[in-house]
Amino acid sequence: MPTLLPRLSPLTQALAVATLAMASWASAQDFPVVAPGQAKPVGPEPPPLIAAPAGSQATAELITPFQLLDRFVLPGSRQALQWRPPDGLGRGELPSPIIVVHGAKPGPVLCLIAGIHGDELNGIEVARRLGQEVDATRLNGTLIVAPIVNVFGYTRISRYLPDRRDLNRSFPGTRAGSIASRMAHGFFNDIVRRCDALVDFHTGSFQRSNLPQIRADLTNPEVLEFTRGMGKTLVLHSPGTRGMLRVAAVATGIPAVTFEVGAPQFLELEHIEPAIETIRVLMHRMDMFEAKGHDESAQDPVPIYFDSRWVRTNASGLLFSEVSLGQQVRLGHRLGHVIDPVTNTRTDIVAPFAGQVLGMALNQQVLAGYAAFHMGKLTSEQQAVLEAAEAANAAEVVDEDPSERPMGEPDNPDERE
Ligand SMILES: [Zn+2]
Repeated sequence: MPTLLPRLSPLTQALAVATLAMASWASAQDFPVVAPGQAKPVGPEPPPLIAAPAGSQATAELITPFQLLDRFVLPGSRQALQWRPPDGLGRGELPSPIIVVHGAKPGPVLCLIAGIHGDELNGIEVARRLGQEVDATRLNGTLIVAPIVNVFGYTRISRYLPDRRDLNRSFPGTRAGSIASRMAHGFFNDIVRRCDALVDFHTGSFQRSNLPQIRADLTNPEVLEFTRGMGKTLVLHSPGTRGMLRVAAVATGIPAVTFEVGAPQFLELEHIEPAIETIRVLMHRMDMFEAKGHDESAQDPVPIYFDSRWVRTNASGLLFSEVSLGQQVRLGHRLGHVIDPVTNTRTDIVAPFAGQVLGMALNQQVLAGYAAFHMGKLTSEQQAVLEAAEAANAAEVVDEDPSERPMGEPDNPDERE
């Protein structure tokens, strides 16, 4: 993926030393280091601004320790760092964990960010596991994992910051702004600017669950290219909202996407494990692993939705869903119903168009106007494929109740990342 090649500055390249270091035998702050078996240079250290000549016979790759948060992480090692917001904002709070896995060979810097909303646990677990499982000695490039950016929210089981602001509406932030804006500014400068590409994990919000899906501005060629590495995970085109991390990152030239995984406040292994697999596939596509099989899905077409709508309830009461996440439905398919427990009346919610259920509310009490089902809209081509598949399965019974017209809003005011 040429666009994701590491942006090594000339200075960094000049500082490159021939080394293949193992964390077990050298302090993390040692720099430069020499791998076992290599002759130690005799005499004074060479001037630091002279790189090994191109095509030299050095057996190891040219790679430097990775510097982040005033620490050096040696090639081929993993290190746990801590990030704190600026200006003493996090005083008294747990620090935010940062895991750096610095590969033994050069490659891109991929950042996995989670917990910007403190109650969105699935992404925290996805990022945590990947930060622990990736083998630094087999990695090309660097993985930066920030599993719990909003420690304030995490410890309080809250989406928000103490000032009730949304951190994911505050990027890139300002030095003298609100609490959220200062935190965003610090994190953006300390971590995000070091990334060559970025995935920001989220979940549905407020009692809603999302099918694992990438949200990305597909009008940006570099972002589009990045999403092509996501294997079978569906991609939803979404320009995003001002202040979102992915929007701010893309504005500074870093391809970035949001990865929606399930519902907040729960740990859903059925979503967590496929999301981890998606990132493994992505890292293969970015040539971050030694080429060893695994990439079976390389030729899978990525399902992409360019249009999606929220379907709202027209009645207040108790919402019961009749579809499942990921289900393909036809026009008029009954998505669920709302029972008014006072009058015992029932109002059906039906699909306003053919598509796939990308997100949905959990069964709960709702008011009229509540966004209950998020549907990806099929293009005519996608619909033809679906109808052919349905025709081949004539036994399938499709519930239809077109007596009530659902309200399809033209935009997604309740869609949150
Ligand atoms: Zn979120």
